Amino acid sequence: MVANRWNENESKNVVAEAGADPADQALAAQAYASRLLGADMALVQHGGGNTSCKVMRKDLFGTDIPVLHIKGSGHDLAMIDAQGMPAVRLDPLLALRALDGLSDEAMVNTVRSNMLDASGPNPSVEILLHAYLPHGFINHTHATAMLAIADLPNAAEVVQEIFGTKVAVVPFHMPGFALAKAAAKVYGAMPDVEGLLLLNHGHFTFAGDAKAAYDLMITHVNVVEDWLAKKSGKVLKPAGPADQAMQAKAISLMPQLRGLLGDRRAEFLGNRDASMPLMELRAGDNVQEFFARSDVEDLAKRGVATPDHVIRTKNFPLVLNAKDLAGGTAAIQAKIDAYITDYKDYYTRNNSRVGGGKTQLNPVPDVAWVQGVGIIGMGTNATEARIAADLAEQNIAAMSNGEDCGGFHPVGEAELFDMEYWSLEQAKLPSRNYPRFAGHVVMVTGGGGAIGLATAQAFAALGANIFLVDLGDAALAKALATLGPDHDGIALDITADNAASKAVNACTARFGGLDILVSNAGAAWTGEMIGLDDALLRKSFELNFFAHQTASKAAARIFEAQNRGGQLLYNVSKQAVNPGKGFGAYGIPKAATFFLLRQLALELGPMGVRVNGINADRIRSGLLDDEFIKERAKARGIDEGTYMSGNLIRREVEARHVADAFVALAMADRTTAHVMTVDGGNIEAALR
Ligand code: ZN
Repeated sequence: MVANRWNENESKNVVAEAGADPADQALAAQAYASRLLGADMALVQHGGGNTSCKVMRKDLFGTDIPVLHIKGSGHDLAMIDAQGMPAVRLDPLLALRALDGLSDEAMVNTVRSNMLDASGPNPSVEILLHAYLPHGFINHTHATAMLAIADLPNAAEVVQEIFGTKVAVVPFHMPGFALAKAAAKVYGAMPDVEGLLLLNHGHFTFAGDAKAAYDLMITHVNVVEDWLAKKSGKVLKPAGPADQAMQAKAISLMPQLRGLLGDRRAEFLGNRDASMPLMELRAGDNVQEFFARSDVEDLAKRGVATPDHVIRTKNFPLVLNAKDLAGGTAAIQAKIDAYITDYKDYYTRNNSRVGGGKTQLNPVPDVAWVQGVGIIGMGTNATEARIAADLAEQNIAAMSNGEDCGGFHPVGEAELFDMEYWSLEQAKLPSRNYPRFAGHVVMVTGGGGAIGLATAQAFAALGANIFLVDLGDAALAKALATLGPDHDGIALDITADNAASKAVNACTARFGGLDILVSNAGAAWTGEMIGLDDALLRKSFELNFFAHQTASKAAARIFEAQNRGGQLLYNVSKQAVNPGKGFGAYGIPKAATFFLLRQLALELGPMGVRVNGINADRIRSGLLDDEFIKERAKARGIDEGTYMSGNLIRREVEARHVADAFVALAMADRTTAHVMTVDGGNIEAALR
């Protein structure tokens, strides 16, 4: 059941805040309804759906003109406000209806030329459909339940059975002028309907006020959910988390799959930099229930519930069954190659059907159905992977519901191709000029500290997805909040038994693998060696040496499975080469880490793994806090500023400078076994 989220007080407040103009009030109410629709994944997914309202506004001469406010392209209904719903003069849109045909480009141009604010976002491409319906408030969604009936072979009959004459059925057309005219014609013949079902596409409701149009949307979807449950005799399980066993299986598979797909993506991109897919696993009860069906392989060939999905998921998933998994790399590789060949054939066939001129898109799958494991959404970053996974989950729900209630028969290949290669859809896709670390998973230990977080931020700014490891939940949450969505992490003590392995596994379960480990966690204990407690020295070795070694081992295991190189980056220390009095407990394990770096560079080099590090000194951080700085400056009889800039270039070295050095090493594609000094210059500590 989809909940009706309308709250009378909330809506009144929103309208009151909009001011005295009735047009602003109507727009505020419709934006509120839009956010409610967007908040429910069963109704609206990722930029899908659109809403509108019609109001009177004054032009510059003070004349009242009818305008249509509609969702702007690129805005998400879940977060939309009045600014996200640009206004377009209605009369010129209505006039277009007299034309026999209108190209998408001409439509977009006419719409843009009639915007009240020329700098507003592009209005939704479904604007003409909204314009040609007379209602003040219109909602359009691709609700899962509505898609299940929209793809039935006898959809029109079913709509009549469920809704009588309250909902009319519109045959499939590409969004744009043709669909708008077809919908207007259907509506014209049945002007008392509350909504429209667009075959193979989605659903509209409309009314004279925002609440009534919203209520209709919720009511319609719930009536259809009830009908589906009765007809199929089952209620689909909701999406949920994967159990431990599924996660373990996924962890052992995803890095290998990632490497194989990355190779193919690299061929397409002509560049290996951003070629590794980020992955998002879905393996809850809903997915397991779906995989338990006997017709899974058949359903995999049916396609997507609404053409909107094709841009993010392609028409079909890559299917790996138990036999493929048992067959190992060769069997999986064969399945991937077959998928790519099929995709290229589909492109060639349809490109010639439309007279050529379309540029082939990435032929590598965006979704994998791994039977016995889960559904994997993929993309060049974790956001794309999450969206693909969400849509894939919606698709299996629409698919199984539909198939159990008469048959799942979405739109055919030709229409799908027209959508996938539609110039207006292409415009929504992100540019292929990916940032330098797109496609990269970077794990940072000590990620809540000054240097760790600055490093995570530097990689994230260049497109990487970050997995942070830090001791406490609070520090971790605080650090993650600075990185934004689609980064993640785990709170654990990296020196505990199996902790490094646990962290790397968690990173793999979350993003599908690992590309760069920044082994950064460290802490300094002081005291002269002669008087030093053995236990203290051992403790320092655990963190400042063994944690680097165990994290490297765990990371190397993933690198090996991915078979695509990888990088280990260590935060070593100036202490590793230039001991400071009383810092033996810190410097000695760091010296061992310095040697570990060279040893691993030698041993992992043939696998294409690069191993480098940073020797930083005198960075304001948890190790060198304000109190400590004060103390050391005083001991030397200088002020704090002089102490902090006590280097050759006389400038304080900050965490961000260390972060930049890590990034520089990560970019230095032919550099390994190298330690870069970040200390503003200190001749005594300079490496020979
Ligand atoms: Zn639509």
